[in-house]
Amino acid sequence: MNLAPEPLLFEISRPGRRCARWTGADPERARAGLPEAELRADPPALPEVAELDLVRHFTRLSQKNFGITTNFYPLGSCTMKYNPVVHEALAAEPAFAGLHPLQDDGEVQGALALLHRLQQDLAACTGLPEVSLHPAAGAHGELTALLVLRAWLDDQGESGRRTILIPDSAHGTNPASCTLAGFQVVTIQSSARGLLDVEDLRDHLGPDTAGLMITNPNTLGLFEERIREICDAVHEAGGRVYMDGANFNAIVGITRPGDFGIDMMHLNLHKTFSTPHGGGGPGAGPICVSGELGPYLPVPRIVEEEEGFRLSEEAPKSIGRLRGWHGNFLVLLRAYAYVRRLGAEGLRRVAEHAVLNANYLRVRMRDTWRVPFDRTCMHEFVARPRKEMLERGVRTLDVAKRLIDLGFHPPTVYFPLVVPEALMIEPTETEARETLDAFAEAMERIAREAEENPALLKEAPHTTPVGRVDEARAVKDPHLCFRCS
Ligand SMILES: *Cc1c(COP(=O)(O)O)cnc(C)c1O
Repeated sequence: MNLAPEPLLFEISRPGRRCARWTGADPERARAGLPEAELRADPPALPEVAELDLVRHFTRLSQKNFGITTNFYPLGSCTMKYNPVVHEALAAEPAFAGLHPLQDDGEVQGALALLHRLQQDLAACTGLPEVSLHPAAGAHGELTALLVLRAWLDDQGESGRRTILIPDSAHGTNPASCTLAGFQVVTIQSSARGLLDVEDLRDHLGPDTAGLMITNPNTLGLFEERIREICDAVHEAGGRVYMDGANFNAIVGITRPGDFGIDMMHLNLHKTFSTPHGGGGPGAGPICVSGELGPYLPVPRIVEEEEGFRLSEEAPKSIGRLRGWHGNFLVLLRAYAYVRRLGAEGLRRVAEHAVLNANYLRVRMRDTWRVPFDRTCMHEFVARPRKEMLERGVRTLDVAKRLIDLGFHPPTVYFPLVVPEALMIEPTETEARETLDAFAEAMERIAREAEENPALLKEAPHTTPVGRVDEARAVKDPHLCFRCS
């Protein structure tokens, strides 16, 4: 059953119907000083509706929205966790939200101090002393750090090193960033244990090696047990190690990448440090690097002097600017609030609970689903349908669609690529045991339905206003207009 589509605001529009009327507004005054050529001849064709229609329309739409504030959202590799509302309130404070990037340094000492302290906190969390808050997202952090690596290599007279090794379980942004930064990508196999194959890595190290990009914990939710040995091998070959820190939520407060040999990494503040994730941003992907790479970080930098903080462009070895202004300030503010409120102890508990929740679900699900790497995982794990289920024609996509009917956002599907029909499940630390039980029961129910009535899954979702869409076509031929022909 498909529900009737919501009437569009234009369809309930009636000429002359209005919301609040402003008695004081003077259109002549508003127009004063604007160039004549820029003025419209006719008023814009906006829907004409009463306030109640307007409020009901948007409230209903908001209720259709599936979000972390309404339902469980175990989207692996994305850390869709609940973030404290108090940080939203802070970010909305006019003293922060009203800052302008063109203000003089002297007027924004508080903001500069906050950014400077956040850099120090992120350095303390990662064990990597030099930090840039500029990158706007994880992928942007990857690109920035790779350009830093390139500049460092060139400075060392090592411009011949242009190969980056990347495991086959990596996120797609890793090879894309390498290519953008002018490196060649060589893929390294995963071992039977789901980890980087260290022997395959050694075989590929050589005089052309610029470095290794590794995700730890990896996208299967497994910690790279031989990470120290891996980093040593890359260093001996003259390269440097980049860590994709998207999964930092699993280890924050417990171990520091700088201590196990990592030279540079990004953090997704919108995954680990309290910025709501989704909807395309804004986010932030700060990078933390070792001392030797510090001089190459982007400008401007925040420097602390006797008279206070100031933004400085004086960094002769810097790769320059990679974005406008000084980073996504309100995202950085939330991260600072998060670190300060939790403290070292609290951050550690975040990681411990994220790992506990993932292992709880893994063990609850392993009798009805296949868990290819069924041992202690970190913050997420990968499951897949059992053979019998696949033989009945049920695929992971059908499972994902059926979960929507049962009130759950589907996990990440078909990633990582090393597990066919993958369901990558990340419960996060913020979920209670009752929620995890309810999800496990929904997965058990789907496994039963696959046996008794596979057609039910093939036709899911049954409860949403729109059923299955042609996803490939939706990307290439989007209908963004309210009146689609
Ligand atoms: C999310 C993610 C990225 C990219 O981060 P964005 O902020 O989305 O650009 C990179 N690697 C992994 C493993 C991720 O999960």
